Amino acid sequence: MALKLAAVSLTLAAFANAQSWQDKAQSVDPTTECQVYSYPPVQAMIKNYPTIWQIANLQTADNDAIALFNTLNSTIPQINPKGTPMGDFSNVTPTYPAADPDCWWSYHQCTTPKIQGINPDVTRCPTPNTWGLTVDDGPNCSHNAYYDYLQSQNQKATLFYIGSNVLDWPLEAQRGLADGHEICAHTWSHRYMTALTNEEAFAELYFSKKAIKDVIGVTPQCWRPPFGDVDDRIRYIAQALGMQTVIWVEDTFDYEYPTLPQTTIDQNYQNIINKAKNGTYDTEGILVLSHELQNFTMSENMKWFPQIQQAFKWITPLAVCNNNTKPYIEQDYTYPNFEQWMSGVRNGSLLAPTASPNAPISLPFSSGHAGSVSTSIPYGSPTATAGVTGTGGAQSSNKSAASPMMAIPASSVAVLLTTLLGIVSGATLLL
Ligand SMILES: [Zn+2]
Repeated sequence: MALKLAAVSLTLAAFANAQSWQDKAQSVDPTTECQVYSYPPVQAMIKNYPTIWQIANLQTADNDAIALFNTLNSTIPQINPKGTPMGDFSNVTPTYPAADPDCWWSYHQCTTPKIQGINPDVTRCPTPNTWGLTVDDGPNCSHNAYYDYLQSQNQKATLFYIGSNVLDWPLEAQRGLADGHEICAHTWSHRYMTALTNEEAFAELYFSKKAIKDVIGVTPQCWRPPFGDVDDRIRYIAQALGMQTVIWVEDTFDYEYPTLPQTTIDQNYQNIINKAKNGTYDTEGILVLSHELQNFTMSENMKWFPQIQQAFKWITPLAVCNNNTKPYIEQDYTYPNFEQWMSGVRNGSLLAPTASPNAPISLPFSSGHAGSVSTSIPYGSPTATAGVTGTGGAQSSNKSAASPMMAIPASSVAVLLTTLLGIVSGATLLL
């Protein structure tokens, strides 16, 4: 009996805790929404991660990840790290060749790699008059009012989540998927990636992908470099990890507030809207950079939303305007394609997010496509149409979602790795 009572009180305590996590995660009250909470699934997994907000390395990685990096390392393009992780490139730019041999975005916004076999960055919505709504730096603990607003508009976005934020604010991260947004990674600690060593860059991408899988239950195949700072060495590592690099065409510069005054950021929004009105995007849409960095950036986005809606024919996530109906490795998550979106479908067939601590993560060739790494990432084929039928309606309430991935057989890895190495050795010759 005593045991039974103890079990009941434990259950009640767990229930009370669950209530308080939910309350905090759903709050829009500025005094409570950002109170730190302890979420047991994250506590259970945190020892397997690098220190939050520190540059990642492989000290806490499992043997598979270390073995993968060791195999990959010798194939990574031999491009030296640049500047500092905080973005001081003053010792690099004076002598960096004007021809931009590394396709270094921070130098001249290069998005078409110089090394053969590396995918170009995705920067656009290929569909006309489309504002690709991309929101970086979340999950932010104060994002509920913004997410509520997007929900009220039946609007989905692509959210680029920072791994450290995902572990800090796991329930807020789960809400992103539950609301029907598309989740991509934005590194582990948000540093300038071209400054990092091969191991650090690999770990930044690996652990952000792993955090999203462990906490939200899906494995993203897209990432955006913080500050856009990427070159062919970093693109190569990302691609080997099955992650497509995503940049943007238009930047609101909202993250520069308050250094930049609100009037300037308003003008940036206005300028993009004006371009839509004068026909600049009549044949091809754009990805626009905005942030859930702080309340200001989110309120700006909400404030301009009605005018964006007026000026652009469509506002969509990256996956939708690229007809990428299955953006995750988990094939049971389906988003509408662009045609379905045009006919009013907004919700995909999504399962409720569930934390699955230390779920096996299939890396790097997890989609199982043979041939080359470039074929494994669906953003590369924006004109493909997908035969999706199971759309519409609310998300499934199936709580058994987010089943861990099966590990792929070692033999498949070997075959695919050989393919990759073949591409790489060809690419290296071009350096
Ligand atoms: Zn960022």
